[in-house]
Amino acid sequence: MRTILVCEDEASIRDFVVVNLTYAGYRVIEAASGEEALAMFDESVDMALLDIMLPGINGFEVCAELRKRSNTMGIIMLTARSREEEKVDALRLGADDYVTKPFSPSELMARVDALYRRVSAVRERSGPAEELQSGHFVLNVRNRTVSKAGVPLDLTQVEYQMMYLFFLHPGVPIERTEILRQVWGESYIGAEKIVDVNIRRLRMKIEDEPSDPRHICTVRGQGYQWNV
Ligand code: CA
Repeated sequence: MRTILVCEDEASIRDFVVVNLTYAGYRVIEAASGEEALAMFDESVDMALLDIMLPGINGFEVCAELRKRSNTMGIIMLTARSREEEKVDALRLGADDYVTKPFSPSELMARVDALYRRVSAVRERSGPAEELQSGHFVLNVRNRTVSKAGVPLDLTQVEYQMMYLFFLHPGVPIERTEILRQVWGESYIGAEKIVDVNIRRLRMKIEDEPSDPRHICTVRGQGYQWNV
């Protein structure tokens, strides 16, 4: 869930910001001081919205510390209209953007949403485990493709999803209802035949001997199992 850390000591402004972010679908972590914000920061935080004038350490210090902890999170500073130098300092210390007080809800949300799009795009690109390998097979998570001994396989998206599921659970049987749930979603529960049909087609594409499968094996009464 997209999560934003809000650090603002003035309760009325903080509430105003929190209400708008929550309404727009963000999970909000609230902090009334910089110390609190740093204590509350964890891996789940995608973005921070930081006021500059705070009771203890100021927003600039919080910004610099957060930037040390995460390169990919988004940081927006709340600056005062009259103080042009604040904006420059904010950007210099690693903030991505600033919003000048007083601001309207639509202005705030436009900045936050725009930054969230940038943050999530960057995180997708630099995400972990872009490729999964299993024997001669390589699955590319970014491109949603699978190759066998270096040769790209011509898979449908459903077939790719099944391969992905197998790659995550090699050597253990996966029940057909579980495959249905993971690949097709809850609404297909009860239609296990669809799994069998697609398994058969997938075997034609990936097995040397589809009638005597080595990789996608049937485990009687338990489902299908990926073997390398
Ligand atoms: Ca303040």
